[in-house]
Amino acid sequence: MAKYDYDLFVIGAGSGGVRAARLAAISGARVAVAEEHRVGGTCVIRGCVPKKFMVYASEVSHHLKTAKSYGWSIGEAKFDWEAFLAEKDQEIARLSGVYVRNLQNAGAELAHGKARLTDAHTVEIEGVGAKTADKILIATGGRPWMPKDLPGIEHAITSNEAFHLPKLPKSIVIAGGGYIAVEFAGIFNGLGVEVTLVHRGPNVLRGFDDDVRSHLTEEMEKRGIKVMLACQHKSIEKTASGLVSHFTEGHHCESEAVMMCVGREPYVEGLGVESAGVALTERGAVKVDEYSRTNVKNIWAVGDVTDRINLTPVAIREGAAFAETEFSGNPTAFDHETVASAVFSQPPIGSLGLSEADARRQYGKVDIYLARLKPMKYAFGGDERSLLKLVVEAETERILGCHVVGPDAPEIIQMAAIALKMGVTKPQWDATCAVHPTLAEELVTMREKHVPMAMGQVA
Ligand code: FAD
Repeated sequence: MAKYDYDLFVIGAGSGGVRAARLAAISGARVAVAEEHRVGGTCVIRGCVPKKFMVYASEVSHHLKTAKSYGWSIGEAKFDWEAFLAEKDQEIARLSGVYVRNLQNAGAELAHGKARLTDAHTVEIEGVGAKTADKILIATGGRPWMPKDLPGIEHAITSNEAFHLPKLPKSIVIAGGGYIAVEFAGIFNGLGVEVTLVHRGPNVLRGFDDDVRSHLTEEMEKRGIKVMLACQHKSIEKTASGLVSHFTEGHHCESEAVMMCVGREPYVEGLGVESAGVALTERGAVKVDEYSRTNVKNIWAVGDVTDRINLTPVAIREGAAFAETEFSGNPTAFDHETVASAVFSQPPIGSLGLSEADARRQYGKVDIYLARLKPMKYAFGGDERSLLKLVVEAETERILGCHVVGPDAPEIIQMAAIALKMGVTKPQWDATCAVHPTLAEELVTMREKHVPMAMGQVA
């Protein structure tokens, strides 16, 4: 008889957990997965997928404006929030079902309930009981972080609730400057909600290239989003007519809803890491090495709970690398270098490699190629501008960073990522013939080095 109930027990059926469980099961291992909520995790249930549907829904209002400039006359356009939610929930349920079937077809067992480690080989699942496993994978993801001490915080929603609001508010204050905050600012703005974005930092999207950050802020403001920087909540007050956000700078703002997008935290609450002796980082993430091994020799962790690069494809690749290493005898570590990312703001962003500031810090002399232009689509009307930027190491001419703000930027950056991952140089990049007429062609036709404006020079 086998020493343990399973060869592998996975806690969390999100992006990372499902991929690892499926691959391990396909390789012949006896695998079980516990999920306390719905199979699919953050990405499918309350992250990337429903968010992108909301982006699509909200972009329609912008397309309608553009349509007029192309000669279309369209009657009164009305958005039905409830009809949208019903469609969105139906598709999410379908996708979650696909995940369940994929697990079952691979031969993995699914246990519904919150799982808690009781020792290094035992997991207690609420409503199911204790199960033992030779190997355990923690893939519990992350969750919104809330400033619990903020007076009135109980009136605020997070991204979790934004996907299920009983009705669309007329106005919303969104606190935060990360990608989730700017994405929801664009979503609500496009759906006709009056949006105020409040961020305590000097600009949104910390860590992104500074030109990208300021460009997006300008574009958001052009679309009517009120952006308040260097400003944060002091309290949230509930009144007869809605909510009042009081800010540290003394002013206040009334709105029907307040949304907190001020960060996410690894989800380890109630997981029993201490019972199994699993060490955490200072930020409360499960501490792992490049093979996603924790300090306990039979326990691994992948995805957002490890707080490395918190993106779905990264969680999937970490889960796959774990399964490949442990169940296919092929030691594999996922390479976290040069991972492209998209921000589905409006306009969207595709970003890859180093920002100009980081490149200067790491490499000293860098050359910058930069273009700002009106996308062809808006030739008949609209004042949206796109931004394309390349950061090149001066000595070797290797491209260190590529940043695009504009239509289809996430699609463009996916392709650019292949070249940067291969170590492409600017001459090789320039040898690539343009595809015309596109926005992406600007990337391969930038020949003039950008000279930053000297202090005091007038634009
Ligand atoms: P998750 O997908 O979070 O899965 C963890 C699962 O574990 C959950 O289902 C949870 O219920 C379950 N669980 C937790 N604890 C327990 C327990 N004790 N017992 C049983 N089950 C448990 N990434 C992108 O790449 N692109 C995007 O556009 C994007 N948009 C996003 C938008 C939003 C609003 C959010 C919040 C995130 C977004 N992300 C995006 C990030 C992406 O969703 C995560 O990086 C990804 O889901 C992480 O996968 P994971 O497997 O680590 O965890």
